[in-house]
Amino acid sequence: SNRNSKNSVQDAFKARLAGSRFRILNEELYTNTSTNSYDKFKANPELFEQYHDGFRHQVESWPENPIHSTHLQLAYTSILLTPLDFGCGEAELAKDLSNIKRTQPKQNIHSFDLVSPNKFVTACDMSNVPLEDKSVDVCVFCLSLMGTNLADFIREAHRVLKNDGRVQIAEVRSRIEYIEKTEGTLDEFIGVLGKLGFECVRTDRTNTMFLLLELKKNGKNPSKKLEFSAKPCIYKRR
Ligand code: SAH
Repeated sequence: SNRNSKNSVQDAFKARLAGSRFRILNEELYTNTSTNSYDKFKANPELFEQYHDGFRHQVESWPENPIHSTHLQLAYTSILLTPLDFGCGEAELAKDLSNIKRTQPKQNIHSFDLVSPNKFVTACDMSNVPLEDKSVDVCVFCLSLMGTNLADFIREAHRVLKNDGRVQIAEVRSRIEYIEKTEGTLDEFIGVLGKLGFECVRTDRTNTMFLLLELKKNGKNPSKKLEFSAKPCIYKRR
């Protein structure tokens, strides 16, 4: 009917608008400092939902969601460990863990993001999390290395991680392995992490889209001055 076709035109329009809002927010998160993004999201918490409406849509088009990949098993399965999910989004990891840990009264996963969309998440800029030194066993960064000051996040992970703890990273490969002249290789990325106090103990490049890394402390103090960023992941209009 006329009415239905009018609605579907409106729906298509809304979907396009939502898509472009997501792409703009996404690009902003990649190209600003985390302080700027935190201030912006704090003043406009509705941006979180706008971002995640688009992010969810994006994830649906991938063959696998890295948050559910076996790579993060360490964080999932070890009941006794305290994981910290940096840039947790809607806290899929904490939700999965709370199912696994149904018998455990205490929820010991920490989930941080710019805005808190539910009871699992604490709002903060993840370059400065409200936790003690050496208090967590596993630091997870799943597609969350956004912003221009990535070194600050890695230093923060180093600070809160116990000496025998691990960092689990899942990131879009083309952000790290983009290869321009001498830049943009995994070796280069791992070299930078070395200066920030971490050794790479496992690399998984079997997925064509995502890179999975596991890090442990290398015994050195992280460089305080070093700064680095990765290539923004700009999603194409669909
Ligand atoms: N890890 C989740 C969400 C990935 S989307 C998952 O895999 O499902 C990336 C998330 O990182 C977004 O929710 C974004 O708000 C968050 N983020 C980006 N910069 C941040 C910062 N400085 N502090 C906290 N969260 C941040």
